[in-house]
Amino acid sequence: MVTQSVTLQPSGHKMPLLGFGTWKVPKDATAATVVKAIESGYRLLDCACDYGNEVEVGQGIKQAIEKGLIKREDLFVTSKLWNTYHHKEHVPLAFNRTLSDLGLDYIDLYLIHFPISLKFVPFEERYPPEWGKNEVDPVPVSETWGAMEELVRSGKVRDIGVSNFPAILLMDLLSYAKVKPAVLHIEAHPYMNNNTLIKYAKSQGLQITGYSNFGPLSYADLGIPLAKNAVPLFKEDRIVKIAGDLKKTPAQIILRWLVQKEIAVIPKSTDTDRMTQNASVFDFELSTKEMETMEGINIPLRFNDPAVYANIPIYA
Ligand code: NAD
Repeated sequence: MVTQSVTLQPSGHKMPLLGFGTWKVPKDATAATVVKAIESGYRLLDCACDYGNEVEVGQGIKQAIEKGLIKREDLFVTSKLWNTYHHKEHVPLAFNRTLSDLGLDYIDLYLIHFPISLKFVPFEERYPPEWGKNEVDPVPVSETWGAMEELVRSGKVRDIGVSNFPAILLMDLLSYAKVKPAVLHIEAHPYMNNNTLIKYAKSQGLQITGYSNFGPLSYADLGIPLAKNAVPLFKEDRIVKIAGDLKKTPAQIILRWLVQKEIAVIPKSTDTDRMTQNASVFDFELSTKEMETMEGINIPLRFNDPAVYANIPIYA
């Protein structure tokens, strides 16, 4: 399979532009799904404590290695620090739990999942802690970042980064970070191209990973009204037209548009055909005009907004 990687500036390590998202993959299907994803050519796995399936992702990785499909060093594994572990003493605790759940001795990339600090929840009480009662317990990002930097120094993580950070928080972080953030992980799809934030982050040397590349689909499943009322991207006229012209699927057009902008993508599917389809986006190109048409679909519509589901307005 044709694929592509980028070099992360802080470490010089390579990161694939195509990854596999593991959010909402049911626990009992996760190990087999991870093996299928690896068989289909995915070399990056996007994980998180919050997805509740890191043990099963780890089982999938182990099975793929035992089958001889890959070696550990061929895989790029991302995970994320959950909101309840932002105090400096909780960062290594949460990281080590993730590492042991995944059955690994290092992680390629560890991200602060949200710029939101919630009250600590001990593992014995609830794991993953999820949003709970949304009890905010403010911790300066500088404290959390200092503990993330320690993880890099320990050799257990190669790069660190942030997710769901607006530009202003990134500017602040860059003013003191001794280990620079390698990646900014944000919502990116045709209805929310996030171009201004992406331009700024790229200018500071960060690689962008776009999530929820199929826009409303993932959030309509969760019953979020904005997503339920939006035209599905796979039925959006301009995307359907480009897909027809190039004899590709709308999903492939969306993913190609992003990777052609050097934005990493992490589509999620448990279906083998869709997995293969989503991975086949490096052997064709969109023309300049088609790229412009894709940019023109921006509204913007943000589907992953903690103001809506947790009453925490980080983007206000
Ligand atoms: P997604 O945009 O990848 O869409 C998933 C949905 O699209 C599923 O319903 C799937 O069945 C369907 N689908 C996939 N390929 C298809 C195809 N070719 N044709 C038709 N339907 C197809 O959704 P997502 O899970 O929200 O995002 C992907 C990943 O991004 C997640 O799994 C997770 O790893 C990551 N993510 C991160 C954050 C964050 O806060 N950092 C938030 C959301 C998602």
